[in-house]
Amino acid sequence: LLLSYEPAKRLARLNIDITPQLLGARMLFEILDRKAVEVDPPGVTDLKLAGGSIEFKDVHFGYREGEPVLRGLSFVAEGGRTTALVGPSGGGKSTVMSLLERFYELESGSICVDGQDITQVTYRSLRNAIGFVSQDVFLFSGTIRDNIAAGRPGATDEEIIAAARAAHAHDFISGFADGYGSQVGEQGTQLSGGQRQRIAIARAFLKDAPILLLDEATAALDSESEAEVQRALRQLQMNRTTIVIAHRLQTVVNADRICVVDQGRVSESGRHDELIARRGRYFNFHQLQFAGQEQRLSA
Ligand code: ADP
Ligand code: MG
Repeated sequence: LLLSYEPAKRLARLNIDITPQLLGARMLFEILDRKAVEVDPPGVTDLKLAGGSIEFKDVHFGYREGEPVLRGLSFVAEGGRTTALVGPSGGGKSTVMSLLERFYELESGSICVDGQDITQVTYRSLRNAIGFVSQDVFLFSGTIRDNIAAGRPGATDEEIIAAARAAHAHDFISGFADGYGSQVGEQGTQLSGGQRQRIAIARAFLKDAPILLLDEATAALDSESEAEVQRALRQLQMNRTTIVIAHRLQTVVNADRICVVDQGRVSESGRHDELIARRGRYFNFHQLQFAGQEQRLSA
């Protein structure tokens, strides 16, 4: 925990125990809840949420000097709607999410939530407004209860159970001998990928933030887990502004808007049918990534 006093960028380089470097920063900020790492400048106020709309305007950013990652990226995610980001690996989709949570500073351009520039609001109010669910679920050593409660420290048992029910996790948790008191982590109960994801979803239900960032799993779970996870996620997205990094055909077909992120820009955006009809970048990308899923979808 001494690590928590290090600046985020240095921490990210330490690569704590988990695959993507970004998760190092995220674990620190969200799971361990070390909000003291960054200090708000004087004069900033709490974010005032209205519909939860998000706007990226001409955003330029790179992790390292001279290596641009985002090069004039712009898009709007409408409040309460689902915006899907698709595009080739390395195009900048995960970076978009990290910037919205302000783990890094922009080189130029702006990001606004409900018209407020994120650099003009407190870190705490910004991050309280955002929930995050990814394929790489970070569970720390402790009980299942503790792992869900990380979404909202101080939550009651009733609230934790309600969140687990909403995430379709209550039944499998109750099936363990120690229930919510079961230990997870290296020495603890072995959880399947689908169970881990549902714990992450429960954490997000408990947090109940109006903005949801979803990094969809690339690898398929077993079909029963997959169905449960998808049901839980659909529920979680309701009435929230959702930005999803999409790997499933079903997700893009249902999205209110798709943004193709390619070489650090949004090269095309619209609904699935429109973009297919346009026969541009999305059409080509769809052929590569989603076409093989058509059959499964119609089956
Ligand atoms: P995508 O999610 O579309 O696959 P990313 O946003 O993860 O793309 O990555 C965009 C580029 O930024 C890639 O070249 C990647 O290697 C680089 N990158 C991502 N995260 C980091 C990081 N924490 N430090 C340095 N480079 C990074
Ligand atoms: Mg990514």
